[in-house]
Amino acid sequence: MSDYVSPSTPDMLAPRYSGLATFMRAPIAQALEKIDIGMVGIPYDGALTNRPGARHGPREVRNQSSLMRSINHATRINPYQLCRIADVGDIPFESAFDIEKAHDEIFNFIGEMVKAGIVPLSCGGDHSVSLPILRAVAKQPLAFIHIDAHTDTWDSFQGSKFNHGAPFRRAHEEGLIDATKTVQIGIRGAQNVSEGWDYSKNAGMRVVFVEELQKRGVDEIVEETRSIVGDAPVYLSFDIDSLDPAFAPGTGTPEIAGLTTPEAMALIRGFRKLSYVGADMVEVSPPFDTGGLTSMTGATVMYELLCVLAEAVSAG
Ligand code: MN
Ligand code: MN
Repeated sequence: MSDYVSPSTPDMLAPRYSGLATFMRAPIAQALEKIDIGMVGIPYDGALTNRPGARHGPREVRNQSSLMRSINHATRINPYQLCRIADVGDIPFESAFDIEKAHDEIFNFIGEMVKAGIVPLSCGGDHSVSLPILRAVAKQPLAFIHIDAHTDTWDSFQGSKFNHGAPFRRAHEEGLIDATKTVQIGIRGAQNVSEGWDYSKNAGMRVVFVEELQKRGVDEIVEETRSIVGDAPVYLSFDIDSLDPAFAPGTGTPEIAGLTTPEAMALIRGFRKLSYVGADMVEVSPPFDTGGLTSMTGATVMYELLCVLAEAVSAG
């Protein structure tokens, strides 16, 4: 059943608007075999603290991702020539009303992918989904590149310590990420308490507020991040709200004066040739979107991540 996964896919000659929507028009996996990178949808938003809708992210990102092509104009990477790539579908949920059980379901599914030697490129979903992904991919405390308006190192909210503002505090507590090899980029937006910012700083994470990036420029931040991450196994998480809402209005907790899309592209391309164990793009909320803009932007971020992952995975 696995012959459909070949370097010649997806079929770039077919009209891009035709056929069933999969991520990047990659083939749908019938089994978790003969795949190097699996793109997976995580339609879960039960851990949100504000505007809802991220559960609809994967379907709309799949739709908009049919606009993507194969060869990256900036890096000349063609991920499909480097790796076997498939859409492995959505994680099926049976406990969507219970955050911790839903997280277990994510952990189990990503765990099966990891067992099959597949590097996950996930599409959320709210940002809480990154915690069970990290539980599944981390064989040791990982280096962590986190692009977001928020540090997501807050604590409990409304009785749950697994809300989408807390995953990386939990990940740090659980020894899944190495704080000294963690860089959080694009942070901004007023808060009622400074707890999350303080937690990241006190834990030893490098927190790059957006004004610092805007002042020093992307290249310097990339260089510093690369020196912090080194050759350690690394996970990259991209929250779409890192971008200015002018580029990505369809998200739950927008913050103005954010990253531009050129800055985001330059950041991701700056993080080539690291030792990736996976990546995700989260928090696209189609009900708050305008004309599919945020989903298209999220799909393009996923494509850029796919290029970087494919280059790293094929290099072994
Ligand atoms: Mn986030
Ligand atoms: Mn955020």
